[in-house]
Amino acid sequence: MSKTHSDPQVSFLCDQNLGRLARWLRIMGFDTEYMHTWDESMIERARAAGRILLTRRRDFAADRQSIVLESDFLKDQLRFLDKHLKLSEKLLPYSRCSICNASLKCVKAQDVKNLVPEYVSATRETFVRCPHCQRIYWKGTHTDKMVEAMRRLFSTRVRS
Ligand SMILES: [Zn+2]
Repeated sequence: MSKTHSDPQVSFLCDQNLGRLARWLRIMGFDTEYMHTWDESMIERARAAGRILLTRRRDFAADRQSIVLESDFLKDQLRFLDKHLKLSEKLLPYSRCSICNASLKCVKAQDVKNLVPEYVSATRETFVRCPHCQRIYWKGTHTDKMVEAMRRLFSTRVRS
């Protein structure tokens, strides 16, 4: 079944309590900003850009552009978001840097030859690089395992 790429991809702003969640959302390909401290001006900008504020603060429960996460556990948070936003249908792994949220750019093996282990450059043809922090990702990194873990996490909930 094909993904509905015409749907606008959801984007987020995670509050200071949701750093791990922010990282996982990026690995799954979601545009996710993170604020290290509560920052009203950052929230305003995020709202204007159509981002959903993810927060642990219950006083935001009535806010239409926010999602309050009751659980402190990453797995429960992800399942909750999947239930409401169908994240599992929108996964785009290897599209965002997990560290700085920038869109990753495709690079050729020869361009990263001296930057990745030799066995990696010898066995892979395509790589993606973060234009911001220069981190290089390739299929077979731990991202694969994380995305696989994510799919399992989502499917156990969806099918039960
Ligand atoms: Zn980066």
